Amino acid sequence: MAIKKVWIDEGCIACGLCADTCPEVFEMADDTAKVKAGADLNKNEELIKKSTSDCPVNIIKVE
Ligand code: SF4
Repeated sequence: MAIKKVWIDEGCIACGLCADTCPEVFEMADDTAKVKAGADLNKNEELIKKSTSDCPVNIIKVE
């Protein structure tokens, strides 16, 4: 199923894993990760899923 929305809940430990795994969608801003505006979610679906499952605190959410 295609990803329609990606967001990051509170509790990011700023490990940088998501930004390293999928830099087209995630970036680090100060001490938290954020989703880049206008990121192509469908094109990056596999890397978004990998980031979601690898995030050490399980706060990357997709819909
Ligand atoms: S992988 Fe999770 S904890 Fe690490 S920077 Fe991304 S959102 Fe934060």
